[in-house]
Amino acid sequence: MCDNHQKPIVASDTPAFFGIDHYGFPEAGEHPADPPSYYPPYFLSERFQRLGYHVEELRDGFYWVTSGGYDAAFVVTADGVIAIDAPPTLGENMLEAIRDVTDKPVTHVIYSHWHSDHIGAAEVYGSDVEIIGHEITKELLERFPDPKRPVPTLTFDKAYTLVGGGVTLELSYKGENHCPGNIFIWAPAQKVLTVIDIISPGSATFMHCDASQNISGWYEAQAQLMEYDFDFLVAGHHMSYGTPDTVKASIEYFADVLEGAQAAIDRFSRSDVLIDILIEPGLDKFWVGTENWINSMTNFATKHVLEKRSSNGQLWSERLAGVTTQTKYHAYTVLESIRLERNRPNYRLKGENPPPFYA
Ligand SMILES: [Zn+2]
Ligand SMILES: [Zn+2]
Repeated sequence: MCDNHQKPIVASDTPAFFGIDHYGFPEAGEHPADPPSYYPPYFLSERFQRLGYHVEELRDGFYWVTSGGYDAAFVVTADGVIAIDAPPTLGENMLEAIRDVTDKPVTHVIYSHWHSDHIGAAEVYGSDVEIIGHEITKELLERFPDPKRPVPTLTFDKAYTLVGGGVTLELSYKGENHCPGNIFIWAPAQKVLTVIDIISPGSATFMHCDASQNISGWYEAQAQLMEYDFDFLVAGHHMSYGTPDTVKASIEYFADVLEGAQAAIDRFSRSDVLIDILIEPGLDKFWVGTENWINSMTNFATKHVLEKRSSNGQLWSERLAGVTTQTKYHAYTVLESIRLERNRPNYRLKGENPPPFYA
C-alpha cells in the first residue's frame, strides 16, 4: 500500500456533534429543550394526567384519540362506530374514549398496518366486528398469530371504499413503505387523512425513520400523503395530529436528512478517501475500518442537518422536538438506504483497480 493510504482521515473530517460518535450518548444538558409548542394544552391537563387519554372531534363525527404517545381514531356513523387501530398504550381507554361521545356499538375496525404497537389491543373491540385490513396484513397475522390482533375479516389489494351510516372512508394501498401492508385511510367529507408511521407532526420522529423497512417507499409515502386535500393528519404519533403546515415541516426535515446523507456518501465514497478510512485502523482490522467509514458518513450527514438553517431561518432543533437525539439514527438509515435502494453511479470496469467505491 502507498504511504498516503496510511494517514488517518476520520478525526479531521468527521467532527463529532454534541460529543457523539454515532451511537454515543451525550449528557442530557447538552440538548436544547423541545419547542414549547410541542406540548398541547391537553397534555398538561388534570384530566389527561388522571385518565391517560385524550379524545377530540376533528370534524363531523371523526374523532382523534391519543395516549400522548400513540394516536388512533374513530368515526361515529348513523349505524355505529368505525374504529381505526388499537394501540396497547391506549388499550381499554380506546373504548372509554368512544363511550365518552356515543353509546353506539363498534361495528368496524380498520387496521392501518400489522404492527402490534398500533393494533395490539384490537381484541378489546370483541369478536362481533368486521376487521378491515390490507391482504398483506392478513397474511402476516396468519403467519405470526396473535390472539390480541384478530385476523382481518375483510381484505383488499389496491383500494376499498367503506360506506356505512352516512360516512365514506376510502382505503388505498400504494405499496410497501413503513412496512408491507401499511395503508392510507381518507375521510373526504371531513378532510381527515390517516396514515401511520410516515411522519410524526412536531417531532423528528422515532429513530431510524420510525423503524421503517422500505425507506424509498417511506419517502414516497410522504409525497403521496401531500397529494390529499387534508386539514388533519392522524399520523400515529406523537403529541398531536398533523396539519398541512406541520406535515410540510417534517417532510422538509427529512429532505434535509436525505440531502446530508447523499453529500456524505459522495464525499466518503471516493476510492482514495474510502481506502484511507478502511486501512487506517490496521490491515488486520477490516471491520473497525468499516465502522469508521459508516460513522464518518453518519456524523457528516448529522452535522449537515443540525447546522442547516431551515426554510423559515430556524435550526431544525428550534422547530421540531427530538432533532438532536434522533437525527443521527435517521442519517444512518437514510444513507444505508441510498447505498441499498437507489441507483449506483458506476461499477467496476475490466482491469480497474481499485474499484470505484460507492460500496
Ligand atoms: Zn409501525
Ligand atoms: Zn408507530
